[in-house]
Amino acid sequence: MMATKIIPPAEGAYAYPLLIKQLLLSGVRYEPGREIVYADKLRYSYQTLNQRIRRLANALTAAGVKAGDTVALLDWDSHRYLECFFAVPMIGAVLHTVNIRLSPEQVLYTMNHAEDDLVLVHDDFLPLVEQIQGRLTTVKGFMRLTDDAPVDTCLPMVGEYESALEEASDQYAFPDFDENSVATLFYTTGTTGDPKGVYFTHRQLVLHTLNAVGTLGVYQGQPLLRSDDVYMPITPMFHVHAWGVPYVATLMGIKQVYPGRYEPNSLVRLYREEKVTFSHCVPTILQMILNCEEGKATRFDGWKMLLGGSALTLGIASEASAKGMVVHAGYGMSETCPLLCLTYLRDEDLALPGEAQLPIRIKTGTPVPMVDLKIIDANGDDVAHDGESLGEIVVRAPWLTQGYLKDKEKGAELWHNGWLHTGDMASIDALGCVEIKDRIKDVIKTGGEWISSLELESLISEHPAVMSVAVVGIVDEQWGERPMAMVVCEPGQYLDRKLLEVHLQAFVDGGRINKWAIPKQFKFVAEIPKTSVGKINKKLIRESEAG
Ligand code: AMP
Repeated sequence: MMATKIIPPAEGAYAYPLLIKQLLLSGVRYEPGREIVYADKLRYSYQTLNQRIRRLANALTAAGVKAGDTVALLDWDSHRYLECFFAVPMIGAVLHTVNIRLSPEQVLYTMNHAEDDLVLVHDDFLPLVEQIQGRLTTVKGFMRLTDDAPVDTCLPMVGEYESALEEASDQYAFPDFDENSVATLFYTTGTTGDPKGVYFTHRQLVLHTLNAVGTLGVYQGQPLLRSDDVYMPITPMFHVHAWGVPYVATLMGIKQVYPGRYEPNSLVRLYREEKVTFSHCVPTILQMILNCEEGKATRFDGWKMLLGGSALTLGIASEASAKGMVVHAGYGMSETCPLLCLTYLRDEDLALPGEAQLPIRIKTGTPVPMVDLKIIDANGDDVAHDGESLGEIVVRAPWLTQGYLKDKEKGAELWHNGWLHTGDMASIDALGCVEIKDRIKDVIKTGGEWISSLELESLISEHPAVMSVAVVGIVDEQWGERPMAMVVCEPGQYLDRKLLEVHLQAFVDGGRINKWAIPKQFKFVAEIPKTSVGKINKKLIRESEAG
């Protein structure tokens, strides 16, 4: 350690550990009457939110939860989820946000691996939990979350959420503790093996939140989230804390709308009725919103939409922007809490007409403050900042998971040489804008050349009759691999292989791609397989093509 100057604190000086409870202080101060809305079921004020968080802390304590315990939550996006984001870590316990879209066996694996103590379960997930209950090894009790009339269950319930809150006191003195205590935990499904647990501490979540307040709020061209905005998440709260935005919105005292189960038509109705101005989602969900019945009949003027989780194609971005939506791209992953990069628009970009801004808006973006990001080649050296040279993105930031829960080996792989390895292949230009070309494992290797499946998807999506597209590499005796495109056609439109070949040939003629990039095979399907968080499931597509 270097001999820096450390001045001992004055007697009685207070060190102020960074704790989630502090994120709650300001929202209610600024906007005690602002609303938290749960679909078409409930609305209450920030004052009530704060009260209910204290009641929940008492209810959890009465149910036997202690500091260091783990509380699992299975719910749709709701006001209760928001309350748990705060109350569980604020009593020193860990919130396990269970991915309810995993298979029952995977949910079982994650709950046993996380060593869950108490399980909060919405009625809709009772059948799932009943199915695995006999094999849950650490769970001591269940508390039910009910929207409608309660249904029968064989699970040993310690109570019902709403009545437990009603009975509990609304006073709770939240204690201070070490800011490095784990606050949240959830699982990410890789391409192989069991789901891996990533975890975040109070300090990390506080720093991520403060950073996101600034990053989303102050830069020119992208004030995505100001205190007078209306926020509705469309990335599930079980997945990386809905990208951490509920914490940001609560700190700012913003009106928040929790949509319950995602159903595209209801999302559009909520957007209209609650006057939502900011949301975030993965591109496949955006597409569902644009194409559902209500979506087709609605203009989305001024709806600021942050797209992340996978690359945004020009096709979807144009469709959204033609309907008035303002699109931005963000980049991150489960392991990174998630915020790493965001669209950044300079004066000259903003001076361009809307359509001409889209190629900039769909790029992966510029690393946000506090994120140290490099793109390295196979030798570990930085690639040239020329917008073309490819390498792996590696990062450091204050909010990255420090490993995988109970898996030293995979944790050390993730953190090889002191940098978190993302597994994403990208280029970076002279101005520092990153562009992801592929996941390392999704890149298509054809006769010594690399083809970016993401770039091909974006080019194919520009054909007006294409609704969605996924490109994967399939084995080819001569070339090693050749691209295969799975395409969903816009309703009422016609498409065939020839039409898409002609469309792509124009990009070959223009020098944008080489002729080997034209897929060897086009498959026209009604739906593209998706992962548990709604992204294109390339692993499954590859497997089914190989099989
Ligand atoms: P997950 O851990 O499920 O959130 O997935 C993270 C992965 O999604 C990243 O490693 C990227 O491969 C991909 N991803 C996230 N954001 C973007 C983006 N803006 N563009 C391209 N890929 C992205």
